[in-house]
Amino acid sequence: MRFLHCKQCGDTTRLPFDEPTDDGAAAFYAAHASCFVETYASTGHSAASGPWHDPMSTRRHEVLGRGGPATAIGTRRILDEPLSWRIEPEGPEESTWVELDRPLFWATVDRVLYPSHLPKRPLEDWATQIDHFARAARPAEIVLLDDDPGSGNTTFACFTMTARARLESALAGIGFDEITRDRLSSLFDEEIFPPLRIRRCLRVRSEQAPSAQPDAPSLTR
Ligand SMILES: [Zn+2]
Repeated sequence: MRFLHCKQCGDTTRLPFDEPTDDGAAAFYAAHASCFVETYASTGHSAASGPWHDPMSTRRHEVLGRGGPATAIGTRRILDEPLSWRIEPEGPEESTWVELDRPLFWATVDRVLYPSHLPKRPLEDWATQIDHFARAARPAEIVLLDDDPGSGNTTFACFTMTARARLESALAGIGFDEITRDRLSSLFDEEIFPPLRIRRCLRVRSEQAPSAQPDAPSLTR
């Protein structure tokens, strides 16, 4: 997608690539006939604060203009209005982190342990151990899967077989009884275990501190 930005008025509009006629562009140029209009092209690098289909999610796209990288930011104040775009004259900074996908993790663990009931504490310890392992993992130890359609900044992932084997052998140190350990160990035979997610955050330095942003991702869940 492309963005047109008027340097004088500060107005910005988004043009989808597949627009059959360039009516949107023509109207924008006509409205800014005596201004300097710059075109910014999306690099494809983008993130949203929530699902892309959620109209209230803030969208951030890295774009390229004549002066180099910049950031197009799309927001709505209320549901009924169109997205309003602005261009920040600096490229976005990206932060990414890997974490245990806890909802998927607990669903899988509950399934394999059912109907026995275990004290929650050692399982929580185990989840925390895997989460720490994920956060410290090297990129080569992570396998990317699909993007999460329910989120604008999350990709499903899992560990490589080598990293999985290290985690499986660490299971012995958690203090489960033998039967439970065998059951939990069998989880590593599943295609995706433990389930991970990679979260991304695009931010422009000139925006407020992350703590003041309502859409800042939380590091704990
Ligand atoms: Zn203008």
